[in-house]
Amino acid sequence: MTNINDDNSSDSQQLGDNTLAIRAGVERSSFAEHSESIVTTSSYVFDNAASAAAHFGGEVDGLIYSRFTNPTVQAFERRLAALEKTESCIGTSSGMAAINMVLMGTMRQGENLIATRNMFGSTVNLFKNFLPRFGVNTKWANSFDADEWAALIDKDTRYLYLETPTNPLTEIADIRALAEVAHSAGVQLIVDNCFCTPALQKPAELGADIVIHSATKYLDGQGRCVGGAIAGSNELIKELTSYMRSAGPSMSPFNAWVFLKGLETLSLRMQQHSHNAQAVAQWLEQQTNVVRINYPGLESHPQHKLCKQQQRLPGGIISFEVKGGQAAAWKVIDATKLCSITGNLGDARTTITHPATTTHGRMSDEDRLAVGINENLIRLSVGLEDAVDIQADLARGLE
Ligand SMILES: *Cc1c(COP(=O)(O)O)cnc(C)c1O
Repeated sequence: MTNINDDNSSDSQQLGDNTLAIRAGVERSSFAEHSESIVTTSSYVFDNAASAAAHFGGEVDGLIYSRFTNPTVQAFERRLAALEKTESCIGTSSGMAAINMVLMGTMRQGENLIATRNMFGSTVNLFKNFLPRFGVNTKWANSFDADEWAALIDKDTRYLYLETPTNPLTEIADIRALAEVAHSAGVQLIVDNCFCTPALQKPAELGADIVIHSATKYLDGQGRCVGGAIAGSNELIKELTSYMRSAGPSMSPFNAWVFLKGLETLSLRMQQHSHNAQAVAQWLEQQTNVVRINYPGLESHPQHKLCKQQQRLPGGIISFEVKGGQAAAWKVIDATKLCSITGNLGDARTTITHPATTTHGRMSDEDRLAVGINENLIRLSVGLEDAVDIQADLARGLE
């Protein structure tokens, strides 16, 4: 059996996403096993010295060393590329490694990128505190307004970078509009697709050049492994594979196998996460101690219409503000018995987080308040439990 999403096979074009999520990326191996095998080896052997030399020299494609070539990791990469509708993909040790690698592996000193401050906390820290040491600076936009982004582009701009929906405020950027801004200036658009996954949104089909994932979240979906990925053109992934060979933030084969299994149920899970989140968000709207709810599936969300156009469903992340300050938010969190108090998201289990003191705690107070991550804000990653049980758990601290 050959790869069903082999680039040259016209059949792969006709397969649906549910089929690709389950079948893409695998080759039947020597034992004809049905589940993908985990190839746990650091290196590979060659028939003779000449073959080794040809592999190392790049004259022959093949497996050399698991820092940059591993069959289980490659199966995951092919499957995710098939779902994201990109030519290729590379797995990384974490989502942050993916973000770091795409920038460090392609940018030059003096170049800049454009982003907003309302992103994942570690991404903001990387852009603000570490990349400038290497002469790579970020210009910060205050909104997703296409004109604002267009005005920030200069001759040294390499990328527009965005997350949509944002973490934790669930603001939605118009990917198509920002891709047009980028391309008309000869710049590329990078989208962190962690919150939606390809089951709900395919940035490459909307014009994005590079798609980033924290596989740790929904791709795994059960909170077991840390990993990440970059999906994009063959040319990009070739350049990044060469960087991976030198820099080494590799995905482990075991983690790749967990993510392969995660992808098989991704679409079903994302539907149920969205369904549950919608029910919980609508219930939160009725609670007198809730003063604000951010969920793209609610008509009150400022980009509700855009969400409907751009995403298949609104997704599983809600954030909401409670009456009072940090103490009131902590009270709701501490009163839960079912929800897991943790920074992770995208899990089968509902997780509850106080962003201002955890995931976004390293942002300066000024930056945090400027983007609207207030002390009374709670983030909920709605899991796959029964929605009524999640509501009852939140009710304990809201009354
Ligand atoms: C978690 C997360 C990351 C970082 O991923 P890790 O796998 O934790 O390194 C990046 N972007 C977003 C939107 C995230 O939620």
